[in-house]
Amino acid sequence: MKHVQFGVSPYPIRIHVCSLDYPILKKVDVDPELVHHDKGDIAETWPGARAKRNGACVIVIRLPEQYDEETVWHESIHAAAFLLDMVGSMFTADSMDTIIYPTEYIVRQIKQKFYKIGVKKCSKSSDGLVPPSSQSVDSPKPTPAGRRGTPKA
Ligand SMILES: [Zn+2]
Repeated sequence: MKHVQFGVSPYPIRIHVCSLDYPILKKVDVDPELVHHDKGDIAETWPGARAKRNGACVIVIRLPEQYDEETVWHESIHAAAFLLDMVGSMFTADSMDTIIYPTEYIVRQIKQKFYKIGVKKCSKSSDGLVPPSSQSVDSPKPTPAGRRGTPKA
């Protein structure tokens, strides 16, 4: 039973990531019709625009205990789309990075915080490999989201 949360700066929204058995449903008032079920209920994402948790908007992502790359990306795209919808933003073919950057950030946070998987930063070197000393688990520089504290709920 796991639960982590993080902000997605500059958006006034917190994303909660929890395992399927985590009783977060008791903490947020969510319209069941907004819950998005995927892959036989092994994962789901819902927007908390109507949830009341200290007045803050939340997005809840529920994931299996076992890491699955496609599931994490799938739910992260849902979360990024809900996030943009909450703040009234849109993306088009000319502005796809509007959703891609938050998606990348959410995936990275889930890998690091929920699954404790190190995420290596890509960079160029003479042999195409990144020397260990320059590897970082921090966010890439184009991310729109600054790091925030990660209080445990
Ligand atoms: Zn889906």
